[in-house]
Amino acid sequence: AAKTAGRRTHYFFNDELREQTERQNAIHKRMREGLKRHEFYLVYQPIIDFSTGKISKCEALLRWQDEDGNMISPAEFIPVAERTGLIHELGQFVLEQACVDWAVVHKSGYPIEVSINRSERELNDMESAKRWLSCISQHGIPNTSITFEITESLLMSNKQRQLQILHYLRSQGVQLAIDDFGTGYSSINYLQRYPVDYIKIDRSFLSQAPQNKVQVALLDALLQVARALDINVIAEGVETRQQWELLQRQRCDFAQGYFISEPLPLNELLKFLKDWQF
Ligand code: C2E
Ligand code: MG
Ligand code: MG
Ligand code: MG
Repeated sequence: AAKTAGRRTHYFFNDELREQTERQNAIHKRMREGLKRHEFYLVYQPIIDFSTGKISKCEALLRWQDEDGNMISPAEFIPVAERTGLIHELGQFVLEQACVDWAVVHKSGYPIEVSINRSERELNDMESAKRWLSCISQHGIPNTSITFEITESLLMSNKQRQLQILHYLRSQGVQLAIDDFGTGYSSINYLQRYPVDYIKIDRSFLSQAPQNKVQVALLDALLQVARALDINVIAEGVETRQQWELLQRQRCDFAQGYFISEPLPLNELLKFLKDWQF
């Protein structure tokens, strides 16, 4: 009986794997076509600077509405794009569109910064990095107005080529943020190995704060270490007034989340910036 069950599990596993591969191939094909058909666009989520009460930057987030009108989550399509290599085209689109939009934001009188997500696979070659820098300058955006968000696993991996590219970008004034801090094998120790400007603490880190005393203590410890290393902390996924007040009390540097604003299309962002009052 055990043998039969084992075999059945085996078949089941293969079916599931095949289904998953087919689904990913289908998404890849639709993404490639969707890029040509302009189905992708960006939204921007405001980030508040607690020290001034102003919106000092926004995170660019990719959106995909396919030809049938369905929204597909980046959590679903980004991993597929990373696996198939389409992330290079997608990432190029994201940077270009963000620069076009940011030239508008700056011309509208808001000299704020924009934060852009980069996948590990996009940091494979120096040529891309150089292309990004010329794209940024072509749109008249100072490099210092751009932050690239990368995940902590990349920094810990010790991948020399990628780290070298990050060093180069940073030497040119681009800022670096570690995204989703606290979700991986977070070791505060590796922060001293690599120069970063920001840590973005994942929303799971604060999900039960301020009621959960362990989360509050961890936040406090992290803020102290970051301060000693001269790294700014951005809290992600701030949804409640209690979280907001806790962060302010603990002297966190920046916050981002639905409590402040959801990610907005450019025209709504401009209106939000105009109306923002702390
Ligand atoms: P992320 O970079 O950590 O982005 C933050 C995510 O949290 C976004 O999800 C945002 O919409 C969501 N969020 C913001 N505030 C709140 C809140 O208060 N509560 C909750 N529950 N969620 C909040 P989104 O837009 O679905 O993006 C998911 C992930 O996809 C991003 O996580 C990022 O890793 C990736 N991604 C998005 N755009 C890009 C891109 O242009 N390039 C790359 N490589 N990855 C991207
Ligand atoms: Mg991010
Ligand atoms: Mg994040
Ligand atoms: Mg996150």
